[in-house]
Amino acid sequence: MTIMLPTTTAGSLPKPSWLAQPETLWSPWKLEGAELAAGKRDALRLALDDQRQAGIDIVGDGEQTRQHFVTTFVEHLSGVDFEKREVVRIRNRYDASVPTVVGAVSRPKPVFVDDAKYLRSLTDRPIKWTLPGPMTMIDTLYDDHYRSREKLAWEFARILNEEAKELEAAGVDIIQFDEPAFNVFFDEANDWGIATLERAAEGLKAETAVHICYGYGIKANTEWKKTLGSEWRQYERTFPNLQKSRIDIISLECQNSRVPMDLIELVRGKKVMVGAIDVATTDIETPEEVADTLRKALKFVDADKLYPATNCGMAPLSRDIAKGKLRALGAGTEIVRRELSTGPG
Ligand SMILES: [Zn+2]
Repeated sequence: MTIMLPTTTAGSLPKPSWLAQPETLWSPWKLEGAELAAGKRDALRLALDDQRQAGIDIVGDGEQTRQHFVTTFVEHLSGVDFEKREVVRIRNRYDASVPTVVGAVSRPKPVFVDDAKYLRSLTDRPIKWTLPGPMTMIDTLYDDHYRSREKLAWEFARILNEEAKELEAAGVDIIQFDEPAFNVFFDEANDWGIATLERAAEGLKAETAVHICYGYGIKANTEWKKTLGSEWRQYERTFPNLQKSRIDIISLECQNSRVPMDLIELVRGKKVMVGAIDVATTDIETPEEVADTLRKALKFVDADKLYPATNCGMAPLSRDIAKGKLRALGAGTEIVRRELSTGPG
């Protein structure tokens, strides 16, 4: 990467209102059949354009073709029955009705590879593709077959690796696995979660990233954050093992969070996607606020390893707010780039 402080997003961006109900998770599609397929592609192109206009360097599809970052991937697998639903507690935080694993899981055909080829055809910029991580996937399902979280996670890791290799062949530069579950199930993360993540990334020549966050800005998450005290030290539990892992980039949230910035020190040597945009508020950061967060992070990560990003996905926000936040990210990063190239003033 030759760009200094390359900007990127955690992944999702709001969808246009003609495609899906805005500001809603698991929002149903408003189109069907061929119209839906065409609408998803149009939305992907608009999401790319918004990123381009905001000066985002490593671009993505804005997750425009998926209803939800975990569910949509799982829908394409066999062995999971979406009619048979059970209520489970997701990340120990909120109840949701989820599909059931009823047999051996497999991926009959690629899930996102055509979308990635399409994005590749639209831009010369580096592209990043997001996939759910194995531990976060098992946490969004009821398992009536393997009856072991670990066993199911290894199965998903194998499937994710197949998908990741095909995404790489389609021209994806960075494959990101979303593992918010790492911020909740620390013992499992250390016992087998990080190992299954490495299995998902095995043999890839593309760079790999893991995104660990405190979730979308939805009520269940903001309520949970209130219980975490004055310092959020969750990353401290998994960063030492992630530092030793083969994953290249660690994505964490820093803007308005109570994560002590010095925890970044624990992944010294890795590239770090620093969340400099809060996705849990509709206030748009000023470029100076973004710059300030990046300056603080630079105390713990070398400039050539810092990737300014959003705290998490922006799917639940309005499009205007998300666009404003993207622009602030681009403009704030530009301030710090100028400082780095001219030295302290
Ligand atoms: Zn996130």
